[in-house]
Amino acid sequence: MNILINDEKHYLTLNNYLKALYHKKVFKIPLNGNFSCPNRDGTISKIGCLFCSEKGSGDFAGEKNLPIKTQFTTIANMMKQKWPNGYYIAYFQANTNTYDTLENLKKRYSQIVQDNYILDKNIKILSIATRPDCINEEIVQYFAKINQTLPVWIELGFQTMHQHTAILMNRGYLNDIFEKAIQLLKKYHLTTIVHIINGLPGETKVDMIQTAQYLNHFGIDGIKIHMLHIMKNTPLETYYTLHPFHILTIEEYVDIVVNQLRYLNDNIVIHRVTGDAPKNLLIEPKWTLKKFVVINEIDKFMRKEHIFQGDLCLK
Ligand code: SF4
Repeated sequence: MNILINDEKHYLTLNNYLKALYHKKVFKIPLNGNFSCPNRDGTISKIGCLFCSEKGSGDFAGEKNLPIKTQFTTIANMMKQKWPNGYYIAYFQANTNTYDTLENLKKRYSQIVQDNYILDKNIKILSIATRPDCINEEIVQYFAKINQTLPVWIELGFQTMHQHTAILMNRGYLNDIFEKAIQLLKKYHLTTIVHIINGLPGETKVDMIQTAQYLNHFGIDGIKIHMLHIMKNTPLETYYTLHPFHILTIEEYVDIVVNQLRYLNDNIVIHRVTGDAPKNLLIEPKWTLKKFVVINEIDKFMRKEHIFQGDLCLK
């Protein structure tokens, strides 16, 4: 078993992983690079993934019209009140953060890191959320170069291995694109984190566990597990009104996540086991607002049953 899995946390948490590496609290500074998304601007579609919020799934990111340095300083100063001695992850979350020309990407990211320059010595990681169909070798080579100065994490929105659900959610790419993107990222030794969503319409517990099992094949470094949020002013709100579907209860969700963890390789860092949504925009499920309750329930379940991340994973 991975040595960072312990009696308290029966899975490899991001927190424990970062503590072991940096010996300090490391927290995210969510930045908005003012990118668009091909699944919203009409290149692939104008609808976007059905669950995507108006802010391109970056509801907690900085103000997009402000320079990145200003966003960073403003948010870091707020965070410092809670953790005065922490390190930072500069996190580009909203929309598709590689969806531009290489030249324009460089204009954005060089504000954080360029050659031996880093905006703030306490930034330890650059994390970039994107779509697998918006990276290519040229872009990956650029990030691989940055990776020599500052570790780069690439986060891919995947959600599900089941193509029919991906099509229903208007994800806009098929699994082979995802697989090629992972291979490219691994070729250049970039840390790769994959987002999945539980509770997508029509998916069973077995379907969701299969998505976790599928990801074991690609040598991914981390995973973010989310519950599907139905948020106001999203296409999913309309879909849910027209075609109501089962919303997982907290008990069902905990059971599914625990089983996903059991099937995941124990060297995959678990970045999240539940997500955040702004309270004023969340329609369902309201129990996700109690994030710490969800996390505690997962921990309690795993401790009570003496089960661990990876204990059902065939290596
Ligand atoms: S790829 Fe991301 S930003 Fe684009 S529509 Fe889907 S969730 Fe939203």
